[in-house]
Amino acid sequence: MIETTRLDAPLVVGAGVAGLTVALGLPRAYVVTVAEMGSTWWAQGGIAVALSPDDSPRQHADDTLSVSGGLGVEKVVDLLTGGGPGAVGNLIALGAEFDRDEKGELLLAVSSNNYTEAGACFYQALDLARRQSAKSMELRAAMSLCRLWQTQGKKEEARQMLAEVYGWFTEGFDARDLKEARLLLAELAGSKG
Ligand SMILES: Cc1cc2nc3c(=O)[nH]c(=O)nc-3n(C[C@H](O)[C@H](O)[C@H](O)COP(=O)(O)OP(=O)(O)OC[C@H]3O[C@@H](n4cnc5c(N)ncnc54)[C@H](O)[C@@H]3O)c2cc1C
Repeated sequence: MIETTRLDAPLVVGAGVAGLTVALGLPRAYVVTVAEMGSTWWAQGGIAVALSPDDSPRQHADDTLSVSGGLGVEKVVDLLTGGGPGAVGNLIALGAEFDRDEKGELLLAVSSNNYTEAGACFYQALDLARRQSAKSMELRAAMSLCRLWQTQGKKEEARQMLAEVYGWFTEGFDARDLKEARLLLAELAGSKG
């Protein structure tokens, strides 16, 4: 005989990232899970989501489908990859901590309206890097802040700040960050405003 129980709150099956996210969004919920570990435990390589300007949810969807061995359902894959940026925004709103510089970039990628909070993150990253005399970190934080200032028309201010940080370096000019900084400096110098 099958026993039935009436619950006074929704029942969420599975305690991976999907189940727990649903449970977090409910005022009250019961969560059941089987003992075996799900995929979430294994996901330790960072959050796979298209946020940077040189990436896109479409590319993520195509990559996912191409390695799914025919099991991926395009509509569902599109839904998941398309919802990624918003999901990261929700994580930030829930209080998930990211590296300050990274968090600023994430906030801007989720919405350009987040510029005040993003700017505060870049300042914190800059301050921390300076206190730790971590020049590479300082350069990255300065570039993030300069790109933000560039969009706000504060190009000369940005150029001066970046030139000062860049000027500290005496070697390693082939490194990606230094190459990007050089390009950004040229861009800022070419359009003083
Ligand atoms: C090895 C590996 C590495 C990965 N690395 C990354 C990464 O670095 N970055 C990234 O973004 N993604 C990564 N992924 C993908 C990511 O882990 C998954 O997309 C995500 O965890 C899926 O979450 P989920 O909640 O849907 O599933 P799961 O985490 O699998 O959760 C499902 C849950 O349901 C439970 N369950 C199943 N059946 C029942 C049942 N009948 N009754 C009760 N409970 C049940 C399971 O025990 C489990 O707890 C990785 C995946 C794997 C396998």
